[in-house]
Amino acid sequence: MSAGPLGATTRVDDTVAATAGERAGAARSALDSIERALARVADGTYGRCEECGEEIGDALLEAAPAATRCARHGAPAPG
Ligand SMILES: [Zn+2]
Repeated sequence: MSAGPLGATTRVDDTVAATAGERAGAARSALDSIERALARVADGTYGRCEECGEEIGDALLEAAPAATRCARHGAPAPG
């Protein structure tokens, strides 16, 4: 830990810690999405819309690799 000589960095450290926590949360949910996508790869449903079973399409998957729905059925999973 690097506390400033005057203790003036406390507020900054708190802000950094909060931001890091938010980022960790976002990273975890991104990781969840990826793990779900990998499970779909494993069972052969990756790249298919969970609503209609049609292929989601390379363009959409490229933009949102963890997408679970085609463009017609409302797009990528949150996160
Ligand atoms: Zn669909």
